[in-house]
Amino acid sequence: MRIGVLAVQGAFIEHEKVMQSLGCDCVELRQKSDIVSLDGLILPGGESTVQNKLLHELDMFDSLKGMIKGGVRTLATCAGLILLAERISNDKRSAFATLPVTVKRNAYGRQLGSFRTRSDFKGIGDVDMTFIRAPYIEKVADGVKILSVVDQKIVGVEYKNQIGLSFHPELDKDDSIHRYFLESI
Ligand code: GLN
Repeated sequence: MRIGVLAVQGAFIEHEKVMQSLGCDCVELRQKSDIVSLDGLILPGGESTVQNKLLHELDMFDSLKGMIKGGVRTLATCAGLILLAERISNDKRSAFATLPVTVKRNAYGRQLGSFRTRSDFKGIGDVDMTFIRAPYIEKVADGVKILSVVDQKIVGVEYKNQIGLSFHPELDKDDSIHRYFLESI
């Protein structure tokens, strides 16, 4: 299985390590020519505004959007979720806008910028969840499956080929969410 990991900025190496431990080949997507035929795509955490800007500057945006719209299975965490979201309630700049949800960036404020918890993930059970200046999902359209809710806020969704998470499963030992992603390819 060949998985492309967006590697222009942010926490991509951690995702690669998990995928490699599960027997996948990872292709780091750093420029347009890296975007080849892939079985899956990972959009990592980091800074969504910087990632979006780089995707345009490096002329990678349209190819990746086409790939996502074309149905390639996509796992997006934190900033990656923001890139997928159709709407960002506290920012005018949306990116791929392929996931019909509204997210709020940096939604937990400064005080609670980063935290860990353990909560239920649909079909898996309790998993550790690490949040780092995370968004949460304020609204979902019909057809969006809710995978996880923490403190009454939606933090995990699935829509067609896209999985969007507010937290960082790549930073925890448990690889069950990555396995869930792989098994669905
Ligand atoms: N706060 C970041 C943003 O708005 C996301 C943080 C993360 O990916 N850990 O893009």
